Amino acid sequence: KKLEKMSADILGKEDALFTTSGTLANQIAVMTFTNRGEEVIIGDTSHIYNLEVGALAALSQVQTRPINVENGYYDIEKMESLIRNKGIQNAKTGLICIENTNNLNAGFVVPIDNINAVCELGKKHHIPVYMDGARIFNAAVALDVEVKDIVKNVDAVMFALTKGLCAPFGAILAGDKEFIEKARWIKQRLGGGFRQAGFLAAPAIVAIKEMIPRLKEDNKNAKILGEKLSAIEGLDVNVDNIHTSILTGSVKKLPITIDEFLDRLKENKIKAKRISDDSFRMVTHLGIEENEIERVVKVVKETINNI
Ligand SMILES: *Cc1c(COP(=O)(O)O)cnc(C)c1O
Repeated sequence: KKLEKMSADILGKEDALFTTSGTLANQIAVMTFTNRGEEVIIGDTSHIYNLEVGALAALSQVQTRPINVENGYYDIEKMESLIRNKGIQNAKTGLICIENTNNLNAGFVVPIDNINAVCELGKKHHIPVYMDGARIFNAAVALDVEVKDIVKNVDAVMFALTKGLCAPFGAILAGDKEFIEKARWIKQRLGGGFRQAGFLAAPAIVAIKEMIPRLKEDNKNAKILGEKLSAIEGLDVNVDNIHTSILTGSVKKLPITIDEFLDRLKENKIKAKRISDDSFRMVTHLGIEENEIERVVKVVKETINNI
């Protein structure tokens, strides 16, 4: 209860719900907002759409209307064109889902004006707006604003306790009282209810109290790493695309495959994720300090020199 109260306060929402995971929080939100057979407008690279085991279809029984999101920016006109008209043959658009930071492979900060424009569109058409804010605090520290200012107009929001905030467990879903009351009931239905939850909430409270300002370091380290990697001949890293703690790069111009490149890093105890046929993703976090950034740069340089 203390964790939920604290979380609601920090987000500027009436109430909050502690869940086992971000995935569960997202799916509870969709189930709370929608009815079977409705349509959900959702980013085509989003976590809810791509990495939640088809839960929109399996649990909420909704269908999706994906929207392409350019560098964390939602095209409002395009979004409005995806809202279904009333009609005997048409599904009802029941929810708009946005993600901030955007695109799990990039960590783009969605501009606050753009979020507010999505919310205005939702209001105009009586469609609720939900934000998957797994890494919302990375966005808040990047913009140097309070997270409340970012999520003010969305109907509900989730954040992960286990990403940059480093807690071992859980996520928070927040919204108004009525929403959370229904969400709590759905959480219970899905077997997500807790009994002795204090020991799970305790590290989450530490995370919220101590880890939020620290995210600045992750964002800064990602930028430093990106700048240094972008200076390596042949390696493609777009520093302008590093908004938060995630950076991406490509080995397209080098005579090495992405798998060989990542294997070489792994041999040196550096983990990066393959995100396409020639590109990778790196994420900075509490376990990565500035001297380790140097080591990563050194290993990447050596790898490329030894091709
Ligand atoms: C990690 C993540 C989730 C899911 O959180 P889990 O706790 O791993 O289930 C949802 N959305 C985004 C954008 C994420 O990065």
